[in-house]
Amino acid sequence: MLIVMKSGASDAEIAGVARAIEQLGFKPHVMPGATRTAIGVTGNRGSVDTARFENMPGVAEAIRVSKPYKLITLDLQPDATVVRVGDAAIGGGDLAIIAGPCAIESREQAFAVAEAVQKSGAKFFRGGAFKPRTSPYEFSGLGEEGLKIMADVRDRFGLRIVTEALDEPGVDLVEQYADMIQIGARNMQNFTLLRRAGRSRLPVLLKRGMAATLDEWLLAAEYIMGEGNYNVVLCERGVRTFTQHTRNTLDIAAVPAVRRISHLPVIIDASHAAGKNYMVSPLARAGVAAGADGILVEVHHNPDVALCDAAQALTVDEYRQMLQQLRAIHDVISRNGATP
Ligand code: PEP
Ligand code: MN
Repeated sequence: MLIVMKSGASDAEIAGVARAIEQLGFKPHVMPGATRTAIGVTGNRGSVDTARFENMPGVAEAIRVSKPYKLITLDLQPDATVVRVGDAAIGGGDLAIIAGPCAIESREQAFAVAEAVQKSGAKFFRGGAFKPRTSPYEFSGLGEEGLKIMADVRDRFGLRIVTEALDEPGVDLVEQYADMIQIGARNMQNFTLLRRAGRSRLPVLLKRGMAATLDEWLLAAEYIMGEGNYNVVLCERGVRTFTQHTRNTLDIAAVPAVRRISHLPVIIDASHAAGKNYMVSPLARAGVAAGADGILVEVHHNPDVALCDAAQALTVDEYRQMLQQLRAIHDVISRNGATP
């Protein structure tokens, strides 16, 4: 159920409805909006009697929700969510750039890439400390040492740090050192991990699973939000298909598909979709043209020696050139009102 408050509803009236929901043993999710506050209800197994709420002071209407989504939906919050990460933001009209190497390999490597990322005007630095590698014999990251290096990157360059947690203890560590938790494609349906991220104070970047439907991806976001963390950014990174010319098939249609249903920001990871350096920029351009709120991209100061995902890493020059193109495209579609 979803309760829409009248536009002039007082804080006391909103709190009164939230309390009534709790008294039933359910969880209220209060979502203040530009024109009105809505309150989502989770924790109920069957339907809740709407009549109980309709006559409460300040309530405009109580709506039974027939869709599988309760919290990601535009029904609950018609205004686009802006996820704030310190002084940076994802959503809300600007193009967010999250750039950095696949894995943190050393302090020198991280600082060299971070310097280029900062100079490019990007606000977010990404890097893996815990790498989910297909083969157990490949470099799987520096662990906590990698997180410490990224915390130093933040101090030195003022960039916001986005990094993956593979498990619940990993979230504890990421919370100590970083600004945003990445949940990787392979963990999109690790429900205990999603719930743990939902109890974090940090925003969450939720990658789409490599074989996940739109519904499965959005329901994964519901797991996080259901715990009270509403700062979720969706990231399309390609899905597995029969094609062999790319690592994954970038599902550009995911951007308008998400927009139609959800208020959450959605970004494109062109690197893991492409898998190949020469395809990254064209895919990123397409993502921005489709209205993505941002781009995640892997860049390395010396891709030839990268320990992880070398084939898809952009050089610093290629990255800079790509950003110019992305900003030009973003300007055009923003001017024409094509982005929300
Ligand atoms: C990554 O971002 O480095 C990564 C492992 O991505 P994904 O989970 O999308 O494969
Ligand atoms: Mn990678």
